[in-house]
Amino acid sequence: MTQEELTARYGAVMMNAFGSPKRVFERGEGVHLFDADGNRYLDLLSGLAVNALGHAHPGVTRAVSEQLGRLGHVSNFFASEQQIRLAERLSALTGAERTRVFFTNSGAEANEAAFKLTRLTGRTKVIAMEGSFHGRTMGALALTHTAKYREPFEPLPGGVVFVPFGDTEALRAHADDQTAAILVETVQGENGVVPAPDGFLRDAREIADRVGALLWIDEVQTGLGRCGEWLAHRHDGVVADLVTLAKGLGNGFPVGACLASGPAVDLLQPGQHGTTFGGNPVAAAAGNAVLDALESGVLDSARNTGRWLREAVAALAHPLIDHVRGRGMLLGVVLKADVAPQIADAALTAGFVINAPRPDVIRLAPPLISTPEDLSGFVEALGSLLDAHV
Ligand SMILES: *Cc1c(COP(=O)(O)O)cnc(C)c1O
Repeated sequence: MTQEELTARYGAVMMNAFGSPKRVFERGEGVHLFDADGNRYLDLLSGLAVNALGHAHPGVTRAVSEQLGRLGHVSNFFASEQQIRLAERLSALTGAERTRVFFTNSGAEANEAAFKLTRLTGRTKVIAMEGSFHGRTMGALALTHTAKYREPFEPLPGGVVFVPFGDTEALRAHADDQTAAILVETVQGENGVVPAPDGFLRDAREIADRVGALLWIDEVQTGLGRCGEWLAHRHDGVVADLVTLAKGLGNGFPVGACLASGPAVDLLQPGQHGTTFGGNPVAAAAGNAVLDALESGVLDSARNTGRWLREAVAALAHPLIDHVRGRGMLLGVVLKADVAPQIADAALTAGFVINAPRPDVIRLAPPLISTPEDLSGFVEALGSLLDAHV
């Protein structure tokens, strides 16, 4: 069936949440995607920073199929070794003395879990950042700054205050003895790949300590190697009390996690939260397979490729490019004009999957397995794609 026919069927049956799909894909292999008409694309978006190991990764495929063939789901009345092992491995990443894990199926749910934990401190105020994105469920939405996402769904859970991202003085001024948590992203991906200014995470840690609030870092997009570190905020030497993860954790198998440390480690007590699917053996097997690959060289090579990509795009010295920002393999190409959506469409026609989180920003988030050889054709093409808009 052709893409045209499939797109018509999609339009007739799917809720119109996402607009018309730009392509209908049929299969993927490593860094490439193939659409229903047989065209091949280089993937520089990874399904929104999800497919860290590319498409149809043999290790993940094997782990998931073997686990599903042995034990797929048991509910959280029961446990599995896969789940315990993944929790142990994730809790070893936080830098905290002790960390406990709650598994979820998505980033929004990981943030819901963390949000509920903040209420258990006995305080109800959460300070979040302008420009933030934390997901689309009612709780996660309450923490998300973008007005057009929030306003149609108000009233949302209360107690959330927004301060300018990176503004230490504003954060200091708003933090008080009613503050349950300070919530920050290391790099605001949906806001156009905006990294926290140097020192801001350390300032946030110090302010949280001073008022007795939790420091909560949303690593749903930035975590697990995407920014060149296991957890991007560890680059700043900061230890958080709550860390939320999801996107890169299962390489496309839906799995998220809320990690609680320090004063948050024992906040959750039996009966206060739950999930049917969260952390089931198959999801945990996917997570363990991703960590195996990251440990055996993928994280190191992603660091190098990220550095190469950033320098290669900057070296284009294109008149339409203002600068390149971001960390590791999460880069924002900031343009001098609002043409990023048009560039993304033209790139797709030319066989490259990228996206435009803002009208003047192109996001590059290739699979972490990408090499400079994989990506060099894109960098070359980007020059010509931009030329059309000078
Ligand atoms: C994508 C994202 C979320 C939401 O994750 P979902 O799996 O879509 O619910 C939350 N926080 C950040 C920083 C994200 O990038």
